Amino acid sequence: MKKMKAAVLYEPNTPLRVEEVTIDDPQEGEVMVRIVATGICHSDLMPLKGQVPGPLPLVPGHEGAGVVEKVGRGVTGLKAGDHVVLPVIFNCGRCRYCVEGQPALCSEVLPAHLMGTLPGGGRRLHRGGQDLHLFYSQGSFAEYVVVSERTAVKVPREAPLDVMCLLSCRATTGVGSVVNRAGLRAGESIVIYGCGGVGLSAVMGARLAGAGKIIAVDLLDGRLDLARELGADFVINASREDPKQRALEITGGGADYAIESIGNVAVMAQAFGSIHSAGTCVLVGAAPMADVLSLFPFEFLLGKTMKGSLLGNVRTMLDVPRYIDLYLQGRLPLEKLTAEYFTLDRVNEAIAAVDRGEVIRAVIRFD
Ligand SMILES: [Zn+2]
Ligand SMILES: [Zn+2]
Repeated sequence: MKKMKAAVLYEPNTPLRVEEVTIDDPQEGEVMVRIVATGICHSDLMPLKGQVPGPLPLVPGHEGAGVVEKVGRGVTGLKAGDHVVLPVIFNCGRCRYCVEGQPALCSEVLPAHLMGTLPGGGRRLHRGGQDLHLFYSQGSFAEYVVVSERTAVKVPREAPLDVMCLLSCRATTGVGSVVNRAGLRAGESIVIYGCGGVGLSAVMGARLAGAGKIIAVDLLDGRLDLARELGADFVINASREDPKQRALEITGGGADYAIESIGNVAVMAQAFGSIHSAGTCVLVGAAPMADVLSLFPFEFLLGKTMKGSLLGNVRTMLDVPRYIDLYLQGRLPLEKLTAEYFTLDRVNEAIAAVDRGEVIRAVIRFD
């Protein structure tokens, strides 16, 4: 058991309170990690705005990276001192989804995420006799987390944790949405809506996969410049041009794939409209849970496909080490995503900056 500081949400639309809480020792199959850095992903803002149901009080944060402090009984793959990133998808290896090769849909994940607990329902975080919940079973806006060993992927020492933390969610989501979910092959075209951390990672993923035309769409020129630097062949500022029309022109009738990384239902419809009749649109942005998407069903009759992707359909223990290798080879230059660093005490300020779209990679550092 340990006392530490964490940022706690007690009620939607109120600031997080940074306060002292208690964390239990890791139990069987769990590890305690001292957080070195955590990204702030747009999804962290959803409970803050009351856009997702779930029990409170809650510690947000799901892009943690850090150093293993202690391991629980039965943990053999990690030891104290190991550097780790913490992708929020853990696989049981036994459910139908795991067995049929879709581990990102593991039936243990969603209930734990919705209930704000560890897989299996464990709660290790408390304050004054009250249990605190964990966003996406992690809660990394805190000095320490206890998580399932199945979410902790070892990182070589030479990879900086304040960059690697992106692999816990956004970078993995972006790359995986192109490589795993869209299944893009060399020469195929893709239009990527939204150039935040997920969208820009999708641009990098598309380049890695050998895309023909990569088209990036955003409202901010600064982000589009970065998209170009990272591999986009065409950029569209949607505040000045109709992105769907322009994408149809560039591709001569529609892209092979579209990715929506924002979580905006109007943009999802634009993305679906940007593909050709045999194309595939992948939704990765998390829209508020009550939002409804409307589309022309005729487009499905033509043969278009629309599908969603949770964390880029990541196979955590297979894909994340690959992405780390690509980063170390300089082929997945995540450090180019413009960063701004905050301390935990400034978490509300950091969240406001993310909400205004001012910063691509807001990171809380704990050193
Ligand atoms: Zn996220
Ligand atoms: Zn499973």
